[in-house]
Amino acid sequence: MMKPLIDKLRRDTVLTKEEYMLLINYCDEEDLKYLFKTAREVREKYYGHDIYIRGLIEFTNYCKNDCLYCGIRRSCKSAQRYRLTKDEILSCCKEGYALGFRTFVLQGGEDPYFTQDRIVDIIDGIKSLYPDCAVTLSVGEKSYDEYKAYFDAGADRYLLRHETANNEHYRRLHPSDMSPENRKRCLYDLKKIGFQTGCGIMTGSPYQTSETLAEDLLFMKELAPQMVGIGPFVPAKDTPFADRKGGTLSLTLLMLALTRLTLPDVLLPATTALGTIHKMGRELGILAGANVVMPNLSPVSVREKYRLYDNKLCTGDEAAESLAKLKNKLLLTGYEVVTSRGDHIAHKK
Ligand code: SAH
Repeated sequence: MMKPLIDKLRRDTVLTKEEYMLLINYCDEEDLKYLFKTAREVREKYYGHDIYIRGLIEFTNYCKNDCLYCGIRRSCKSAQRYRLTKDEILSCCKEGYALGFRTFVLQGGEDPYFTQDRIVDIIDGIKSLYPDCAVTLSVGEKSYDEYKAYFDAGADRYLLRHETANNEHYRRLHPSDMSPENRKRCLYDLKKIGFQTGCGIMTGSPYQTSETLAEDLLFMKELAPQMVGIGPFVPAKDTPFADRKGGTLSLTLLMLALTRLTLPDVLLPATTALGTIHKMGRELGILAGANVVMPNLSPVSVREKYRLYDNKLCTGDEAAESLAKLKNKLLLTGYEVVTSRGDHIAHKK
């Protein structure tokens, strides 16, 4: 029944809020099949059958923020805090490079220890040892000047999920010292500076509705990011949302496919959180239009501690050292992991 609307989205790459809500609320099994097939056709047009890999280095779980959903929020007393040294980060890169990674993603809490100078020094270190690799940062909200300093030091990409485009919803997920306006300001600054920029959301976060999801798609259309991260919300113990329901596989796959049709050439990961809630999550994400996976390259000794949510995968197929196994599993989807930087098509080096 939704086929005409799916065709319209493919053709126009945008719908009205009401039309997006119709797709979010009323796709039946058959519609979903058609939606995913359409999403795959669109991703193939731009990126063929390639799946890009990113080595994720979770280099600190100290955080000055107190996001209500997050397992490493400031007031989560049960989190065992750690930070990696520059040398430890560089040895993650060394291991990753040998495995075939050509993108390193440095992700962490907003840790005041990592000043602008320290981050710049780390970017510098990675770029001088691995000039053929992309560096992606995911370290939260900073000033224009600080982002610019990272970019000038050679960082290529930046991930900062907007979490929700609806300002009221944003305020219910964050304490009052964080604002939706600043989050969005950061994203526009990052784009302006020239980063390949990623925004994104958790599906099924508390207070989310089909209307806020439709607003997310419209926000993405307006921002036009090069990357979008979408994974299910998974409750984290010792947080205010510990007893909430988590996001579902089906809603996440639906949002991945709608994102693919809205931003046809976007780089779209099948996230760790999706792999965590379903054992075929990553594969199904790829089959719904995703084209990136981000295995964990953090030192094994700290992986357990970077616990954004409960039961987060960090071993098995999620671990960079099992890349060969992951590659074989993903081959069954008909898509293939490649060793390249995997830049956005408008930013090919
Ligand atoms: N401090 C950085 C990195 C945050 S962690 C930043 O602000 O961008 C990366 C992402 O993990 C967050 O943007 C959020 O969307 C997601 N995340 C946090 N807690 C989560 C949870 N309980 N379930 C699922 N995803 C979560």
